[in-house]
Amino acid sequence: MPTLFAKIIRGEIPSDTVYQDDRVTAFRDINPAAPVHILIVPNKTIPTVNDLTEEDEALVGHMVLVAKKLAAQEQIEKNGYRLIINCNIHGGQEIFHLHIHLLGGKLLRRMVQKR
Ligand code: AMP
Repeated sequence: MPTLFAKIIRGEIPSDTVYQDDRVTAFRDINPAAPVHILIVPNKTIPTVNDLTEEDEALVGHMVLVAKKLAAQEQIEKNGYRLIINCNIHGGQEIFHLHIHLLGGKLLRRMVQKR
């Protein structure tokens, strides 16, 4: 069964796509948690971080570089932003197709409190 994101990548489900190349697709989150909330997704379906292999090393690096370029495009690079990858249930992952969340455009609260 193709994932929801695989369908978005193939154009079978509409999305607000902001970037696409032969390895990754990036589109705006349908339920944004910040003024800028973009998901950077590999075109090949990898369910979670746990499923990454050595072969995916360059792909993951590319995903981060695309996130960096999109942050510049969205003009949030100077104030800063957050990149998040959720993994499995305790990580809060809902869609089992690897993705980086790019969040910015406002001051984001700490995710983990200092002691
Ligand atoms: P995660 O909890 O890390 O798996 O994140 C999944 C994200 O996908 C959530 O932030 C959802 O709001 C987002 N999402 C779900 N469906 C869609 C969709 N059709 N288009 C864009 N983003 C979506």
